[in-house]
Amino acid sequence: MIMKYRTDSLKLMGVEAAIRRLSPSHPQYIFLEGLKRQIIAGIKGEELLNNFFERVKFRFDYYVLHDLHLYSTAWFQIDSLILTPYYAIILEMKNIGGHIKIRKNHPQLERTLASGQIDYYKNPLAQVVEITDLLQDFLEIKNIELPIYRIVIFKDANRSLQFEESDIPIIGIQELPHYIRTRPRDKVKLNHDQMEAVLTEFLNAHQDYNPFPITSKYFIEPKDIVPGVTCEKCHSFDVKKFYREWRCQKCGESTKVGHLNALSDFAMLIDRKITNKECRHFLQIDTCKQASKILGKLNVESIGSKKKREYILNYKLDNTNN
Ligand SMILES: [Zn+2]
Repeated sequence: MIMKYRTDSLKLMGVEAAIRRLSPSHPQYIFLEGLKRQIIAGIKGEELLNNFFERVKFRFDYYVLHDLHLYSTAWFQIDSLILTPYYAIILEMKNIGGHIKIRKNHPQLERTLASGQIDYYKNPLAQVVEITDLLQDFLEIKNIELPIYRIVIFKDANRSLQFEESDIPIIGIQELPHYIRTRPRDKVKLNHDQMEAVLTEFLNAHQDYNPFPITSKYFIEPKDIVPGVTCEKCHSFDVKKFYREWRCQKCGESTKVGHLNALSDFAMLIDRKITNKECRHFLQIDTCKQASKILGKLNVESIGSKKKREYILNYKLDNTNN
């Protein structure tokens, strides 16, 4: 039974906003594009696993928790955790195609596409070793005695997967039922009530990972973020404020809420707090009065008064507050 889904959509929104507002020649641009690919692959990987768990049945209870962000002796994130009465399995799903090469003591996984393009990802073996140690600490702190298995899964482990022998199995998703069924089940470690209690421990300890502000997380100077309202239709930044609307100077598209997406980008990329001056710069408008009117109508909390007033933006602004 799937008890927790992943919450990567906010991070994806933030990374997409950064890509939109950085010059393609920016040193972090290629990294962010790679990160976007990884987040999307992660979301699709979870879908594959969920479809799998809907189809396959086991003769014992189990819970699946995706995207757990926990603290024991340090913060750590588990892609997917399977909890059973006998053991837990850390499941690191890698939803990436192409020719994959994994070396045991190498920090990166190398993926080569048919076109010859080579991309690098974190080595899942190293990730899983670290996660296991931190999960072990977590269980000890909570007085939970449960063997931990760990496994790296690819959507299809065919001949294009090349790796060195390791004590962490690397398998295709089609081999997962067999792997789960063949883990030792000679001793029940958690009865039904204990399993519920452990599940609650995990859900209560989980904290949503806050990926914002993107600029400080990924070493980007806020000044490198291109300001301005963007056109929804042609993506141009040449959008000007008129009395009641924003109008694209390139394609003529107009909208009443162009500032909302821009301010949401500001919150995700730079800071949730914004002053009148910062608002004028980011929306590329001229007068204090215009900015005050826009910020005032957002219906969000503000701190300080007069010139020092700062408004606390939402990451996704509600389109009804225009
Ligand atoms: Zn346009």
